[in-house]
Amino acid sequence: PQAPAKSGLFGRIFGGSGVVAEEPRRVLDDAMLESLEEVLIEADMGPATAVRVTANIAEGRFGKRLTTRELKSALADEVTRIMTPVAKPLPLYQQKPQVVLVVGVNGSGKTTTIGKLASQFKAGGKSVMIAAGDTFRAAAVEQLQVWGNRAGVPVLTAPEGSDPASLAFDALTRATAEGVDLLMIDTAGRLQNRADLMEELAKIIRVIRKVDATAPHNTLLVLDATTGQNAVTQVEIFRKIADVSGLVMTKLDGTAKGGVLVALADRFGLPIHAIGVGEQIDDLSPFDPEDFARALVG
Ligand code: GDP
Repeated sequence: PQAPAKSGLFGRIFGGSGVVAEEPRRVLDDAMLESLEEVLIEADMGPATAVRVTANIAEGRFGKRLTTRELKSALADEVTRIMTPVAKPLPLYQQKPQVVLVVGVNGSGKTTTIGKLASQFKAGGKSVMIAAGDTFRAAAVEQLQVWGNRAGVPVLTAPEGSDPASLAFDALTRATAEGVDLLMIDTAGRLQNRADLMEELAKIIRVIRKVDATAPHNTLLVLDATTGQNAVTQVEIFRKIADVSGLVMTKLDGTAKGGVLVALADRFGLPIHAIGVGEQIDDLSPFDPEDFARALVG
């Protein structure tokens, strides 16, 4: 007999108290689909995606008697199908330096992600430089220096309160002169004053284009997966501010609510370049749709 479904989404439909001892079959009827939809919304998939996923699962199965396992695997397949097109590592170009602009709200894990990425690229034989572009947060600059040390990568800083665009310009000039492969530019994440932030990012982009008209080559948006549907709002906001080319989802360790990733993939189709799975330097993984779907479904 199958072990009771205790964890993941299905614990909430079938109960986690050991009642499901041996593969009951349930009719996939309206009530069942409704509970499924509710559970998906609770897991942060958002109403639109939850409705679509539920409808796809009902197709060809409605009115049939399914086991827990069959329903689980149908859901996992559906999630995998949605997520597969967005699972793409950060593309690496021949272009030197490749300029990666990193955006996101404070606390999303930007600093940590930059440190982890720097370490991975370095391990992959790339030379890396970091520009601490959040010049208004002394603590952020210090943290980035700590991560730079850990990764063994130089971090360029500027005095507190100085112009981030000017730092970005200097960093790209230097990275170009030194033949660095990859320059990552951190940016401020103060969404409280959106107009200022927009102007600041626009200026950084304008100024680095004086050095390299094709820069930035990637604009990474870092999102905290535990913020649920807020992540959707953040994508909408940052897409208006910058030409976001891909996402990194942090804090996927210890959250049962990764459903927002499905909503993001379904809605925006932006590549997920990596996921953060902890606070240590190696805790950054490629996004694997099947693993993700299995973990989400439980
Ligand atoms: P920033 O303000 O966007 O630069 O965010 P930080 O990089 O300083 O991260 C904010 C907090 O989130 C820190 O305590 C990090 O250790 C933590 N953090 C970042 N990424 C992850 C992750 O993938 N998993 C976990 N558990 N914590 C993370």
